[in-house]
Amino acid sequence: MKISPITATVRYMRQSKLFGKTRKEKPSDEIAKNAILLEQGGFIYKTMAGVYDYLPLGFRVLERINAIIREEMNAIGGQELFLSALQPRERWEKTGRWEKLKDIMYQFKDNSGHDVGLATTHEEALARIATHSIQSYKDLPLFVYQIQTKFRDEPRAKSGLMRGREFLMKDLYSFHTSKESLNEFYEIAGKAYERIFERCNLTSYKTEAGGGTFTNDITHEYQVLSEAGEDTIFYCEQCGCAQNKEIANIKEGDACSSCKAKIKVGKSIEVGNIFRLGTVFSETFNLLYSDEKGQKHPVWMGSYGIGPGRLLATIVEVFSDEKGIRWPSSVAPFQTHLISIPGNDLMVEKKAEEFYATLNDKNISVLFDDRKEKSPGEKFADADLIGIPLRIVISSKTLKENAIEIKKRDEEKTKNIPYDDIKTIISYVQ
Ligand code: ATP
Ligand code: MG
Repeated sequence: MKISPITATVRYMRQSKLFGKTRKEKPSDEIAKNAILLEQGGFIYKTMAGVYDYLPLGFRVLERINAIIREEMNAIGGQELFLSALQPRERWEKTGRWEKLKDIMYQFKDNSGHDVGLATTHEEALARIATHSIQSYKDLPLFVYQIQTKFRDEPRAKSGLMRGREFLMKDLYSFHTSKESLNEFYEIAGKAYERIFERCNLTSYKTEAGGGTFTNDITHEYQVLSEAGEDTIFYCEQCGCAQNKEIANIKEGDACSSCKAKIKVGKSIEVGNIFRLGTVFSETFNLLYSDEKGQKHPVWMGSYGIGPGRLLATIVEVFSDEKGIRWPSSVAPFQTHLISIPGNDLMVEKKAEEFYATLNDKNISVLFDDRKEKSPGEKFADADLIGIPLRIVISSKTLKENAIEIKKRDEEKTKNIPYDDIKTIISYVQ
């Protein structure tokens, strides 16, 4: 069954009642473009460095991104679960990560004197829990995932939603009887990642990277080119191969080994990361399966992460101009932004209300700028800032021709179409 990302949420909203308000001034304490535009547009609220609240508009975008992720994870057999953020120290002692991660992991004592911490990731938790689900080769392979809040006391929390100290992660864990089975699924998961980024309108490079703390195998990062990125990659536009600068054995201007095109260099944002963990975690947690002969072996594991908040921020970094955000329609908070410019004309108000009702009837999601105290200029500036793909204006001028004015966010030109030509609107929002 295909889940429609919008049906679970309200399809329509009046801007006069919207909880998040746009702001004229740029926030003075932000340098990252994603944070500036998202705060100005009323999508998010900054609580402190690296900690953001999602307001209704921002939450709608986040939920649409999560819906895409869920569809793709379910399609490769992922079972969704939801693990606790609060963790006992003992679990992390076993892998040595309590000590190793102490600079980045929030660790404290609870009231009864026990050491507890907020999970930065969930390999330990899953390896432990899986001992109750996996006994035999017949139980494998198995894939579970969650979209859950992680905590990391990031030292460089200056990049807005790209580097939160509290942030969402989609993390999937796979369990296998053999290295071959793990490798096979690693490719399948990688393809699912490519589809996710593609559906968000992003071009991603599957980039060879280091960082496999528990394995000598190469890991792969999914990188999106952007000046706002903290990483640097060498990449080939023609065949798509790429290496993170940290481990690269190619450089700018080299001929690509597979297609001979020239290698380029660029700053990039890591939106996803996939790892072959091998058997380290299963050995530590005694996560074993028995084969056909009843012999026990450690389970092979992989882990696969995406940051939905970082993905949202990346979309803003890539799709924005000097006026504001330009959401791709697949993740936009609404499909249309209906603006009424009533002036003193009561007919405009009436016709705009009617049009709002018609859009609802036709299942076209709409943010309705019904605010009375705002000037046309302010309304247009807000529409550009918020960045909904299709703007629809109703004014005395358009009504004289019995028309409405439509404009795509990423185009300059406006166009009048007949007031009752809902078919054209539908063709634009598909
Ligand atoms: P980075 O190198 O950028 O710190 P990481 O390699 O530590 O990230 P992983 O542990 O691989 O990150 O996490 C999986 C995914 O979670 C990342 O690819 C990224 O999309 C997202 N992510 C990681 N850290 C953050 C963060 N602080 N804020 C938002 N998203 C994050
Ligand atoms: Mg990473």
